[in-house]
Amino acid sequence: GIMTTHVFHRNPKLELPTAVSAQGIYITDEKGQTYLDACGGAAVSCLGHHPQPIIDATVAQLETMAFAHTGFFTSQPAEKLAAKLAAHAPTGIDKVYFVSGGSEAVEAALKLAKQYFLEIGLPDKSHIIGRRQSYHGNTLGALGSGGNQWRRRQFEPLLPPNMTHISPCHFWRWGAPGETEFDYGQRVANELEAEILRIGAHRVAAFIAEPVVGATMGAVPAVDGYFQRIREICDQYQVLLILDEVMCGMGRTGDLFACQHDEITPDIVCIAKGLGAGIQPIGAMLCQGFIYDAIVGGSGFFQHGHTYIGHPTACAAGLAVLDVLTETPLLNQVKQQGDLLQTRLREALGSHPWVGDVRGRGLFIGVELVQDPSTKEPLDSTLKVAAKVKAQAMHYGLMCYPMAGTIDGQHGDHILLAPPFIVKDQDITAIVERLTNALDTVYSEVAAVV
Ligand code: PLP
Repeated sequence: GIMTTHVFHRNPKLELPTAVSAQGIYITDEKGQTYLDACGGAAVSCLGHHPQPIIDATVAQLETMAFAHTGFFTSQPAEKLAAKLAAHAPTGIDKVYFVSGGSEAVEAALKLAKQYFLEIGLPDKSHIIGRRQSYHGNTLGALGSGGNQWRRRQFEPLLPPNMTHISPCHFWRWGAPGETEFDYGQRVANELEAEILRIGAHRVAAFIAEPVVGATMGAVPAVDGYFQRIREICDQYQVLLILDEVMCGMGRTGDLFACQHDEITPDIVCIAKGLGAGIQPIGAMLCQGFIYDAIVGGSGFFQHGHTYIGHPTACAAGLAVLDVLTETPLLNQVKQQGDLLQTRLREALGSHPWVGDVRGRGLFIGVELVQDPSTKEPLDSTLKVAAKVKAQAMHYGLMCYPMAGTIDGQHGDHILLAPPFIVKDQDITAIVERLTNALDTVYSEVAAVV
């Protein structure tokens, strides 16, 4: 209970079940209730909860050499994982800086962008442009670069000053009447150019964005042409393009790197979550060879580092995950099962009075809830529908990831689904059934009150 725990919980007022074991796509609590994990926690557990090859590789590394500090040694797992990531990464991405999670990967990316321009003699380039309704992590730099108003608000005075934000790309919500998807994408991409010109190109270091916006908006991919225009603008004004694939990367969308779908090459890309599949905490910041060369040929080193960077055991787990993702047909299944899940969700919920939109890519899917699908008017935020859906889903034995604030940090609700890549057809049936039950229960509760 609340009074007896010494854990400073994420949300101290929630009564949490105690998880004790896990197999496949299920977690079991100490009372014996099982929960189907339809969100991978937060898009983490991409191979389910007991991926034997990853566990074996992790245990083997623990037995051989758990840790060797990177100030003294490199390690075989780090070398192998970096080589394999570079081999499968977008063109030119050549160097890998290992960290322990997504926020750390973003911090490293922001600092690398700043140091790069120092090294090449452009010290004024220190401004970062991000997007509203995005999330890049909870450390102060990452939080500052993100545009999640709800997460930022109380820490505003501590956030770095040289960070501003442009519109996200979410056609269903913000496309103008009569505007094509493509034209909308170009219009919001051109906000980047306007913002660079407003700040002064000589002052802007980088633009950061999630290729598919995750928790903040609920699996929203950009429209066709958007990221190509973004890439063009970055090239024109010598602004580095940082892609945050912490949530959408590592096969989640069906491609190893989400940006492969957009056919663009980032200058820096951040990954985490699925890279360790939940077996080990690991993230990475990957960069173009020219950035690395500027650092090594300039001051000689990147002024950064944490104790646990390049942790051999974490890298061994990451390498085993990457082996599965690149050497088995699993990512084809991600596309197939993702399409199936979207289809089934539309069949079951398409005419639900609250369901406005079902979207996503691969096994990264969002269901946006609204008061009125025809006007897209959001639900009354005081009803706390997202939180209620999460609680009801747990009651039905389903883990999903509902969030509020989809539109502006306060208004809007969505449910994010990011099940393990190993989901079978019958699992998808169970996910849709349980989610429908949870949503119907919350709907009748709320309707009874209103
Ligand atoms: N970037 C994105 C897109 C994320 O979704 C997250 C976490 O949800 C982060 C960064 C931060 O990662 P972490 O929680 O591992 O620090």
